[in-house]
Order: sequence, then C-alpha cells, then structure tokens
Amino acid sequence: STPPALLEVDDITMAFGGIVAVESLSFSVREGEILALMGPNGAGKTTTFHVIAGVHTPTKGKIRFNGQDITTLRPDGRCRAGVARTFQITQPFHELTVEENVMVGALAFHRRMADARTDARRFVEMVGLGDRAQVPAKGLSTGQRKRLEMARAMATRPKLLLLDEVTGGVDQKSLPGIVNLVKQLREDGLTLVVIEHNMGVINELADRAIFMNRGVRMAEGTPEEIAKHPEVVELYLGEG
Ligand code: ATP
Repeated sequence: STPPALLEVDDITMAFGGIVAVESLSFSVREGEILALMGPNGAGKTTTFHVIAGVHTPTKGKIRFNGQDITTLRPDGRCRAGVARTFQITQPFHELTVEENVMVGALAFHRRMADARTDARRFVEMVGLGDRAQVPAKGLSTGQRKRLEMARAMATRPKLLLLDEVTGGVDQKSLPGIVNLVKQLREDGLTLVVIEHNMGVINELADRAIFMNRGVRMAEGTPEEIAKHPEVVELYLGEG
C-alpha cells in the first residue's frame, strides 16, 4: 500500500497585489520521499517554500501536514509541527560559532542550554563540520555554510525538510558530499522537498520532480520523465 501523504499542497494561489507568484498549485509528498521543485527564475519555487513554512498565508488554498491543516499556523507553530527549511542565501549569525548557530535550532526543541549544546554537537558532526565547530560562521566556505544550514534545520527535529538550492554555488569537488548528506537524511527517515537546478543532482536524489514556470506547474514526473519536457530540455539540457 502507498504510504500516506505527509504534505499536501492543495490548490495554493499566492498573489502579491497584482503579481500572482503561485497559481492553483497542488502536489503532495509521501513520507520518505524526495521531491524536487524546478523552474526558471521567478517560477514561484521560493514562494511555494514560504507558503509551506508559514512566511506567507496563501491567498487561496490549503496546506495539510501530517494530517493537520497548517494553512494559518505561524512559522514557529509549523516548526513545532515538524517543518524545517534552509535558505537560498544562507543566513547564519556570522559572529557565532558553527556550534552556537546550530544551538539556535536546537533551542527550538530543548529548554536547557546543556541539552541544546549536546544536540548541536551531534548535528554538527552529522553534517561533517566537526572540525569547524568552534570557528565563527563567517569563516565558512559556501559548501560548509550549506551544511551548517542543514544542521541548524535538523536540530529542530523536523519530519519535513525544505532545502532551497543546497547545491547552489557549491564547487564541483564539494558537490558529492552535499548530495550524500541529503541521501543520508532521507535514510534517517526524513521527507524532503528540494529546490534544485542541477539535473544531475535531481537525477541522483529525487523520486519525483515538478517543473514550474510563471507560478504554474507545467510538468510532474520522475526525473527521467521531466527531462523530456521541451521547456526543461531548453532550460537545463540545451546548449545555450
Ligand atoms: P528564483 O529562482 O529567482 O528564486 P523562484 O522560482 O523562487 O525564483 P519566486 O521567488 O517564488 O520565484 O518569485 C515568483 C514571483 O513572485 C516573482 O515574479 C517575484 O518577483 C514575485 N514575488 C515573490 N515574492 C514577492 C513579494 N513579497 N512581493 C511581490 N512580489 C513577489
């Protein structure tokens, strides 16, 4: 039998004044699945993340998570319900150490500082930043910052993790490590939605992909199926 949907995005429209960023978008994500959101600049991917994470209340439609209607829950309530995210532009506290940054996430789950610190250490190790734990976040490379973001999000103990371009700006050498880390998170029981531009990464990670353009879902399928869509061919696989 198919596992139940953990996340249901049901006919979401998000308008800012006259600008419709997302229009009548529906999709669901099963437990343990990795879904990729693709599409050109302005397609509405980040707005979709904002609506799922509670930054925006949608103009129309519903978000259901783990059987609960979370459409009007504030971001902190969604965090407690089990939704976490990373940002396209990573936003660590620059002067705080790597470990302290992850503690900020851990304090969403723990009251006691000592517990938050113990947990933070564990997640810093898990993302492979153990040797950087005591350096200020401003000293990290792009790839390391992406790992830090993942550790901070994981420290809130989510069921669903939204990753916004976690491979963006990461050099070729560091890419496999990030991809393996995402695979590891899934093996540990997480469900993921990833905004991703790299077709190779999508092929390797995603069970399913949705291609959006101008706020609308244009195609949905396995990475192989999506790769045949004419607009995807033009945008991601073409020569120019
Ligand atoms: P990118 O890859 O560039 O991040 P995206 O697919 O994430 O693109 P969004 O950032 O979701 O796209 O933007 C979709 C559209 O909505 C764009 O036209 C954008 O200008 C508009 N938009 C997003 N947020 C707002 C806002 N707060 N106010 C007004 N317009 C917005």
